Amino acid sequence: MPITEPAHNEPLQTKPETMRYRPFGRTGLQVSALSMGCMRLGEDMDLNERLVARAIEMGINYFETTRYYCDGQCQHRTAPGLKGKTEGIIVSGKESISPDKTAYLFRKEIERQLDILGLDHFKFFQVGWFSWEMVRHLLKPGSVLDALRRAKAEGLIQHVGFTGHDKPENFIRCIETGLFDSCTVPYNMVNRTYEPLIKRAGELGVGVVAMCPVGGGVLGGASDELKEAVGMDLPTPAMALKFVLSNPDISTACSGMSTMEMLEQNVEAVGQFEPDAALFETICEGVDRLRTTLGDHFCTSCGYCRPCDAGIGIPHHMGLYNLWKCYGLVDWVRERLAAVPADKAASLCTDCGGCEDRCPNDLPIRERLKELTELASQTG
Ligand code: SF4
Ligand code: SF4
Repeated sequence: MPITEPAHNEPLQTKPETMRYRPFGRTGLQVSALSMGCMRLGEDMDLNERLVARAIEMGINYFETTRYYCDGQCQHRTAPGLKGKTEGIIVSGKESISPDKTAYLFRKEIERQLDILGLDHFKFFQVGWFSWEMVRHLLKPGSVLDALRRAKAEGLIQHVGFTGHDKPENFIRCIETGLFDSCTVPYNMVNRTYEPLIKRAGELGVGVVAMCPVGGGVLGGASDELKEAVGMDLPTPAMALKFVLSNPDISTACSGMSTMEMLEQNVEAVGQFEPDAALFETICEGVDRLRTTLGDHFCTSCGYCRPCDAGIGIPHHMGLYNLWKCYGLVDWVRERLAAVPADKAASLCTDCGGCEDRCPNDLPIRERLKELTELASQTG
């Protein structure tokens, strides 16, 4: 079935006095530099409504949702704040793909999510939890692509994106199919894995939504090391957002915001911020320098050290060690250590050494676990 022109093509809302806008790939849409991930909305429905409404008031015109976040409540929590205000606003929906997902099932899900949100169309709909492996299922006759094409032809959706965690080289192949208008991937100062994909997306005119720009909270805490390395005397979340938005190929930084304070601070930090190639280079150099603090002894999360008979999540702990020693995020690391269940704590290490025999990076895992145990016992 041919893809027709979208039925809803009004320009997006803009509030230039508080927010900057960027081209959303080749869609012709101007998306707000800061967008709102609705997966962190909480149980306070009054606050949720005020948050979403205030975000629109401040110029945010992209809201990322799916039925599956927040124990199935994400879109219910988002909908009240959108009521009567959706003209010129992107609210994206998302549905997963699997080998047995039929066009019928996918279509039903689009309709269900529209219904919950009180929308008559999605300006963006995401194929969620996507990977290169799933492309062949997407293309099968009677499968997801058929559903997307029909929904587009009927004006139920305008643009199609994907989200996921596949390897960057695989996602590059995905965007090179020409099937997608956007991709949504994690991107922040301490996770630059997808930079090759982001660059290629820029070349192809595919919009990029940076998720976890503040590292899912990792970059929420103070770090003198980061401040010094990137040459900015700012709170870490503001630095983190500026880093993401310094990359000219990023369309929008999608931050999960659950309080009014967070929203106001983020808008204040980057609402008026323009991409800055020189700043981007400076920050990249700074974080690269920090990254080399541990030399070759940087945990790469490969997982070869597993299993641990004492039940310790070694890659998790070694990742925390990286954040502590390289990026100075000591408060965050202490907090995460406190959240490790007692039967998985670093202190349970029996010194057997099996993990070190298996680690390709020759990490002194036992010594690091001891340091982490010591850190966990200190009060912040
Ligand atoms: S040395 Fe400690 S962490 Fe490593 S496998 Fe043995 S018990 Fe687990
Ligand atoms: S094997 Fe070494 S590098 Fe790989 S996850 Fe374990 S500690 Fe990290």
